[in-house]
Amino acid sequence: MTTPARPFTPAFGTASVATTPRLWERPDPALSAAGIEGETVVARVRVLVMALLLVAPIYNLVQDPTLPMFRTGFVVTLAANVIALGIWWYVERRTWRPWIGFASSIFDVSVVSLGLVSFFIVASPLVALNSKVTFEMYFLAILATSLRYDARICIVAGVLALAQYAAMWAVGLANYDLHDPAFIAAAGPYLPVDLAVRLLLLCIATVVAVTIVRRAQRLLYLAARDRLTGVFNRGHFDNALQQVVEVTSRTGQPLALALLDIDHFKSINDQHGHARGDQAIRAVADLLLQSMRRTDIVARYGGEEFVVLMPGTTPEAALARIESLRATLVATPIALSDGRSIALNYSAGVAGTPGDRFFAESAGLGAAKAPDILVGLADERLLAAKRAGRGRCFGPEIDPPAPPAPRRSSGAQRQR
Ligand code: GH3
Ligand code: MG
Ligand code: MG
Repeated sequence: MTTPARPFTPAFGTASVATTPRLWERPDPALSAAGIEGETVVARVRVLVMALLLVAPIYNLVQDPTLPMFRTGFVVTLAANVIALGIWWYVERRTWRPWIGFASSIFDVSVVSLGLVSFFIVASPLVALNSKVTFEMYFLAILATSLRYDARICIVAGVLALAQYAAMWAVGLANYDLHDPAFIAAAGPYLPVDLAVRLLLLCIATVVAVTIVRRAQRLLYLAARDRLTGVFNRGHFDNALQQVVEVTSRTGQPLALALLDIDHFKSINDQHGHARGDQAIRAVADLLLQSMRRTDIVARYGGEEFVVLMPGTTPEAALARIESLRATLVATPIALSDGRSIALNYSAGVAGTPGDRFFAESAGLGAAKAPDILVGLADERLLAAKRAGRGRCFGPEIDPPAPPAPRRSSGAQRQR
């Protein structure tokens, strides 16, 4: 005797959906995309600010090219300009890596500290510690981290600014008499309470940056989500698809896309009512969320239709996963809140690369068409699955085999 299948209980409202990332967690793809744009803005502003900061050292150098302080100031600012240009070039090339936000924020904070250290060395420790304009640049650097939409970057930059300024204070205290009238005459009195307040202000700036990120994360998260199910919505999916297809065309990695449509859903609404129908849609969304990888993008494509984008997965493997998930769904009826249960099934179409030549097909139409062609192929197969009787998943292999490639003449081979 077979054991009756345990009904699948919808997990809507649990941690699997509709929560923002934890404080020390990589933001999800929607937020990373916003962070990349933020990084680009910061990279452009940095180049501009660095170019402006170069004006004073150039002026000083023209006035007195022999003074070592002016020469050092010019070389350091020039080096910072070169690095700023390098970051800008790297970011604009869209060769994004998750560490770029960390590296560029560490650079911004350290440039400010470097400016203070140069005052410390060429003027006096008190000129560095009491500096007004340069110290305030820390706030710009810390607040700019919020444009990366990653709270971890804000924390790293804030802690670094705090540590570097505190270290400078400690070195000044350990090696110099900060009450020396000569220092005080040039830079004002040594007031430990003021310096402690500066450290406190750096902490507050970090907390403000983290709070901005948390609020933005929440808003972006909600804007990208489907309200009923908590999975991504169509708008977000379309953007993500464009980006993922772009990356895939560059890297040549596998990519799969599956379109799923629940079978005979109208009759479920008719039998159980729309509220229970909603519950069933949420249960399918939860099943998809729980079964897909973190890098997969699950979205509600329309009423009772879902789309799953699987970067790094071949269409063949994706088809196997979607088919095995279908078997799980069939075997585990959805438990409804009224104690009854609904047996669900779906049909699906899978497309992707290797297998589908959608990049080649889009070549004449422009790269922007590749995502539409990919979705169109999955849609055709979904339709074919419906026509074939529903409750099945079709992938690239249902297409007629590609015509054999023309044989190359030996002359052509010799030319290569
Ligand atoms: P098929 O097997 O051909 O897909 O049959 P179907 O009955 O599922 O047909 P179709 O896809 O045309 O119908 C989808 C139905 O899903 C129609 C609509 O009433 C219902 N639906 C769409 N969105 C929602 C929703 O958010 N909640 C509920 N409860 N029902 C929805
Ligand atoms: Mg439908
Ligand atoms: Mg349907």
